[in-house]
Amino acid sequence: MSDNNGEATPAPVEATPAPVEATPAPVGGPNSGTIRVGQGFDVHPFSEDPDRIFVLGGVSFPQAQGLVGHSDADVAAHACVDAILGATGLGDIGQLFPDTDPDLEGADSLALLARASDLLADAGWSVSNIDCTVILDSPKLAPHRIQMQDNLSEAVGAPVSIKGKRTEGVAGLAGGVQCHAVALVVAR
Ligand SMILES: [Zn+2]
Repeated sequence: MSDNNGEATPAPVEATPAPVEATPAPVGGPNSGTIRVGQGFDVHPFSEDPDRIFVLGGVSFPQAQGLVGHSDADVAAHACVDAILGATGLGDIGQLFPDTDPDLEGADSLALLARASDLLADAGWSVSNIDCTVILDSPKLAPHRIQMQDNLSEAVGAPVSIKGKRTEGVAGLAGGVQCHAVALVVAR
């Protein structure tokens, strides 16, 4: 029989300290208080189709020439979507709402903006505000500006401002309507 009574030679005490673990990457969203800015731009050309309705900021202008687009072609809503997605790195409007999706044909872009805002909220962000500049000669925005701002603000859940700018005769700008948007978002 063996005379070691089953005792194994004790393992030498390890002097090497346990490796220090790297600080894990934060999960579940951005750090609270993080502020980001995002920029969005959209343009749609005027349509020859007399049945297309011009929609801007959720307001319909039945007397105006409509814009070409898969959805309702609301450039203000689309620029706002890209601004908030850009600020948060959550993609862009084409990824979220592809113009090949038959379900989005003629879609109400305010609803798309609300869905994008919900996506931000789920990711831990809230929109502080969005400022838009729409470039067009007609129709006149001033009589409907408050309504457009109210519509967009309700969809986003934060203040959205709209400013109108004429093309000033610059070649190429009068063939459609453009919108630039800048958004500020904050991590909750
Ligand atoms: Zn668009």
